[in-house]
Amino acid sequence: MSIEKIVRETLKLTDHKILNIEMTDESIDIYLDKKVLRRLPCRNCSRRCRCRDQLPPRIWTHVSLWGIPVCLVYSPRRVKCPSCGIIVEKIPWSMGKSRLTLPLIITLAFFARLLAIDQVANLYRVSWGTVSNAVKKAVKFGIHNRDCSNIQYIGIDEISRKKGHVYHTNIYDLDKKVLIWSGEGRTMDTLRQFFDEMGKEFTSNLKGICCDMWKPYISVVKERVPNAVLVFDKFHLIRYLLNAVDKVRKDEVKRYKQLGKENILKKTKYIWLKNPCNLTSNQEQSLGYIQKLNTRVTRAYLLKESFRELWKHRSKEKAKKYMKKWFWWATHSRLKPLRDFAWLLRRHEEDILSWFEVRIDNGATEAMNNNAKAISHRARGYRTSDMFSMVMLHCLGGLKLPGFLHKFV
Ligand SMILES: [Zn+2]
Repeated sequence: MSIEKIVRETLKLTDHKILNIEMTDESIDIYLDKKVLRRLPCRNCSRRCRCRDQLPPRIWTHVSLWGIPVCLVYSPRRVKCPSCGIIVEKIPWSMGKSRLTLPLIITLAFFARLLAIDQVANLYRVSWGTVSNAVKKAVKFGIHNRDCSNIQYIGIDEISRKKGHVYHTNIYDLDKKVLIWSGEGRTMDTLRQFFDEMGKEFTSNLKGICCDMWKPYISVVKERVPNAVLVFDKFHLIRYLLNAVDKVRKDEVKRYKQLGKENILKKTKYIWLKNPCNLTSNQEQSLGYIQKLNTRVTRAYLLKESFRELWKHRSKEKAKKYMKKWFWWATHSRLKPLRDFAWLLRRHEEDILSWFEVRIDNGATEAMNNNAKAISHRARGYRTSDMFSMVMLHCLGGLKLPGFLHKFV
């Protein structure tokens, strides 16, 4: 297959022809022209019109061949469109004012889902900026062509970058398990910006929203989407409970140390925190032994395990009764961390029990947030928040790439 044929095929040339191919020390230059007597489509309305004149030559960078850069040189024509006036033709390989061909943009964007931006740049011998521009264009295309009208349940989660100094709010579609939006910060304004960008129709379709007990999120959800059910994520809730159990363990370790018996609770942290069905047989044995000592941790552990029963209830009413009972146990346990947790439950009771109306949780988003962290690490961090948000959307948003793709990768 000749270079000419490859270029013709990959650019899907119908109205244009290859005039000449020149190979220099640095690149393969391909000179294109329009076919004689051919009417060309208007950039605006795609109507085929007669050509009026031509603009000075423009150069596009195309997908390299065997690592050799390929450049296209062409003088775009201006057509005389009856509806749009004198206007530049629609160039099939071009995307806006970009100096890259559409196939190159797609190829770079495709590999940027798998590799860090600088790795793609090295692979294709282009600059970091060129790849990030390609990602920007691909994301813009993907967002323009996605359909958010059927989204009913969303999960709000946060992620930190720069070692916890910068927070990002990530919003996920809980049905499709894709990222819909990402923005810097975790304030009320961050979430308001999301609802503003998505529009009123999107907001009015929402039936359930799952998030952590983070006040700014709660206030904005209640202000902007009062009709949707707000559900506190049960995984976050369990995490608070585990922290409380661990606090009890730490206090107990200190107490035993004073008594000179520090070995008793040594290496038991995860035995108390794990779900019993996930314990190894050794851990099970240890649990049996230390439980008999009837320490404060044992009480905290039993309270933790009994709390899991909450989610097994069939109705909200029954769960509410159970929660009341549990509240009494916890507040009479003489364990401060558990008492604090019980009061946290009491303060947010309604939004925790709303899970029995709309059974959503952020389990899936948690996994995606881990992927987002991996993306951040793979590039050893991103310079700007906008870039980080964009790469996350590119990798986790399930966005479509323009249709040229199958020809290249
Ligand atoms: Zn037109």
